[in-house]
Amino acid sequence: ATPMSIMVATGKGAGLGVLFKNAEAIETLRKVTTLVVDKTGTLTLGQPKLTGVIPAAGIDEKTLLILAASLERGSEHPLAAALVEGALARGLTLSAAQDFASHTGKGVSGRVEGVEVLLGNSTLFGEFSIEPGALAARAEELRAEGQTVMQVAIDGRMAGLLAVSDPIKDTTPAAIRQLHGEGIKIVMLTGDNRATAEAVGRKLGIDEIVAEVLPDEKAAAVKKFQEAGEIVAMAGDGINDAPALAQAEVGIAMGTGTDVAMESAGVTLVKGDLTGIVRARRLSRATMANIR
Ligand code: ADP
Ligand code: MG
Repeated sequence: ATPMSIMVATGKGAGLGVLFKNAEAIETLRKVTTLVVDKTGTLTLGQPKLTGVIPAAGIDEKTLLILAASLERGSEHPLAAALVEGALARGLTLSAAQDFASHTGKGVSGRVEGVEVLLGNSTLFGEFSIEPGALAARAEELRAEGQTVMQVAIDGRMAGLLAVSDPIKDTTPAAIRQLHGEGIKIVMLTGDNRATAEAVGRKLGIDEIVAEVLPDEKAAAVKKFQEAGEIVAMAGDGINDAPALAQAEVGIAMGTGTDVAMESAGVTLVKGDLTGIVRARRLSRATMANIR
């Protein structure tokens, strides 16, 4: 495309809430065959809310939530914020945590009120050889509803489950429908549990799900689709998504997400509205049609 037509497309995009960083993004978007999309904060609002506190036998709800939320004050993860807000909304008073450690893509651990608290997903609990036991069935039920389930252990013993729910953005179903109409394959990429991811994916008609992916594995997942001959656009919002955004033929960041994601992407959707991809592709086609 000519520099002039790129300038025109960039200006039109800005008016539509789609910021193009470079000519390459405009030129490549129309050729995309697969959209890989992060779940949390991209398909969903990214503001999970605490929906369930399920203690194991012998523990009460308050103690479970106080220990978990006290530990999560040390984490910047959106799930941590959901637990802290949930505890404060229930009028609970949090304690200080010691020896806080973050296990990236898995959970957190530390000491609160003199006990060892471990909080996170099945992978983390597997590493510590802690089984969900009697709570396993309840966890699966919640996941089948699309909720994210965190497990909590106190002094190495299963102590309960915490469920959070992150609503799907209003604009997501339309974006998926429109992109499907253009023949694009849609893949969800998430660190969340497979059952939870599948429940959300089924609701949205997502074609393929890659779940339980560690943050540093996201770029490799994009590469696999490229090696299979797909031209990949990757949409994401988090620091974790940045390498995958850079790996894709076109990286698409949510304007509602982190700066790191926006720096790594060729396109930013100002309001985090995925239907912007459809508008951006229309501009891409119009711009490239001018020169052929
Ligand atoms: P996503 O790709 O959905 O943004 P992450 O890679 O950030 O997910 O996290 C993957 C999973 O690890 C979460 O679904 C959660 O089960 C667990 N996890 C990560 N950080 C925390 C935390 N601070 N507290 C509890 N669980 C966590
Ligand atoms: Mg995200």
